Formats: sequence, structure tokens, C-alpha cells
Amino acid sequence: MVAAKAVRAASGSQAARDLYDRIGEFLVDQRLDPDPANYAFAYQLLANPDGPLARAVHALTDGGVRLTRRDIESLGCDAPAPGAATIEKAQGLVAQTQMQVEGFQDMVTAMRAETKDFGRDLAASAQAMRSSGGDGLEISRLTATMLERVRTAEERLESANREASELRTKLEEARDNARKDPLTGLPNRRAFEEAYAAQAGAGARICMAVCDVDHFKSVNDRFGHVVGDRVLKALGEALSDTCKGHLVARYGGEEFVVLFTGLDLKGAREVLDRARLAVSAKRYRLRETDAPLGEITFSAGLSPAQQGEVFGTVFHRADQLCYAAKNGGRNCVRVD
Ligand code: GH3
Ligand code: MG
Ligand code: MG
Repeated sequence: MVAAKAVRAASGSQAARDLYDRIGEFLVDQRLDPDPANYAFAYQLLANPDGPLARAVHALTDGGVRLTRRDIESLGCDAPAPGAATIEKAQGLVAQTQMQVEGFQDMVTAMRAETKDFGRDLAASAQAMRSSGGDGLEISRLTATMLERVRTAEERLESANREASELRTKLEEARDNARKDPLTGLPNRRAFEEAYAAQAGAGARICMAVCDVDHFKSVNDRFGHVVGDRVLKALGEALSDTCKGHLVARYGGEEFVVLFTGLDLKGAREVLDRARLAVSAKRYRLRETDAPLGEITFSAGLSPAQQGEVFGTVFHRADQLCYAAKNGGRNCVRVD
């Protein structure tokens, strides 16, 4: 019995040792720092070698390609929590709301106790009046006291209700903000990834586009960051207009992504190309002096999602195609 236990423990610790060694080898092979995020990623991957994450990594690393930090992030592991501050704020609001609900419960309990006391006092007064033939003064004093208590309680309840509904509104705002890019007002990366998961889970036909503004650094260099920001905003609007009915999001920096649903690759490509032409045909000008900013264009990669593919796999393909579009001269769309 003891011996069997010892064998089990030994084989358990051997398995743990093997897993630990494989994690180490994986990090070294992939030239990834052994930091907690990469370690957690490798653990998730190697502890479940047949899971969806392992399949996605296999697809990415097929042919000896190394994983980059960006791949790891796009696979949904250690994604730098977008809007972490907003989420913290939302959590704070949840805690506040919970405290308030507890406050409500106390208030209702106190009101119940007071009403009970009042009923008891009233009964005692009525009994005393009956036996002494009193004139009802005591009853009216008690009633006035009770009315005053009810009025105070109602006021407190009313103000607590107001606070609760303000908190609810703030909570909803915080939830929205955690999924919104503050500069363009577009959905952010987090919202986009959630939308992909929902659409893919529902079995929708999906094509994903990654669009990257061409030579955007030079816009910043020539006109400054503020103008660069305005250009990004205008671009987000142009993309949303031209890809109406499909989800346009700002993935980060000068990168936008589009989730085309219900279109085949040819249909999605037509819409994306129209968007590209519309953007490149616009003549952007400096608001202050009306001086032209020059042509603003973007390059894009477009890829259809296969049944059951995780976000990172499709994104990686579209991203690689976007690089190919850059290498192919920019201001163009590349598809699988
Ligand atoms: P390429 O055609 O190869 O994509 O060239 P690029 O200049 O667009 O690419 P690069 O990656 O060299 O530069 C991207 C620039 O985008 C650098 C960065 O300062 C700028 N950028 C990223 N986010 C923002 C932002 O929110 N506002 C502004 N104004 N600039 C941004
Ligand atoms: Mg870029
Ligand atoms: Mg760029």
C-alpha cells in the first residue's frame, strides 16, 4: 500500500519534472524569455498538447517558424489587458454596488424592526386606554412618531435608489469603455476578439482583414502627433462607412481590423478594395492652414476563417498577408 503510494508519487513527480523540462526546451527553442507570461503560455500549451491552443501554435510554427511575442498575444495569452484601468474601475463600481445592496438590506431590516416595535407599542397603548378609559392622546403621539419614521425611511430609500441607478449607469459606461478605443470611438481589440469568438461560435461565415496605414510614421514626423491622431480618426470613420454592416475595430497603433460576416472571400475583398480606394482618393488637409497632407493609403491582408479556428490563427494569416501587401508595394489588398 505504502509502496504503491510511493510509486504513484514518484511517477507524478516524474511527470511534473518532464513537463517542466519540456516548458524549458520550448522557451529556449522559441527564443522566448522565461518571464512569467511566456512561462504561463508554454505551460498552457504543453499541459494540454491536443487542445485548441496547441493546434493554433502548431499551425503558426509549421515549417520551423518561431513564435513572436505578438503571436502569443494574438493567441489570447497574456494579451496586455486592454483598458486594464477601466476594468479596475468597473470592478470598483461592482464592489460599491454590492456594498450599497447590503446597505439596502440593513435599511429594510431596520424598517421592519421599527414597524414591529410600532405595532407592539400601539397594541400596548390600546390595551392601556381600554383599561383606563384614556382619551387617545397616546395613540396620536405614537402615530405621529411612526409617520415621521416612515417619512425618513422613505427619503433614505429614495436617495439610495438614486445612488444605485447612478452606479448602474457608471457601470454600464465602464463596461462600454473597456471595449472602446478612446481616440477613434471604434471597438477595440478586446471587443473585436470577443466578436470573433461569438461569430465563429455561432458558425458564421467570416473573413478577417488586417489593415495597416502606409508610411504613417512620416505623417507624424511631418505634421506632428496631433495631426496623426486626426488622420487615424478620419481613417476609422472612412473604414466604418465603407465597410458598413461589418465590424471595424482599431487593433492598435495605426492598425485597423475588419470582421466580414456573411460574405465569401470574393465579396469581402470587393468591399475591402472599395474601402481602400475610397481612403486613397480622399484629399486630407490640415485643418488650420488647409495645406494638403498628401495621399493616405493602407495595405491589407484578408483571410477567410476556417471552421473552428481560434482567433490567433486567422489573425496571424491576415497579418502575414498584410506584410505581403506592404512588400508588394503598399496600397493594395492581399488574400489567401
Ligand atoms: P509601413 O508602411 O511599413 O506600415 O510604415 P509605418 O510608418 O506606417 O510603420 P511604422 O511601424 O514604422 O510606424 C508606425 C507609426 O505609427 C509609429 C507610431 O508613432 C505611429 N502611431 C502608432 N499609434 C499612434 C497613435 O495613436 N497616434 C499617432 N499619431 N501615431 C501613432
Ligand atoms: Mg503597423
Ligand atoms: Mg504602418
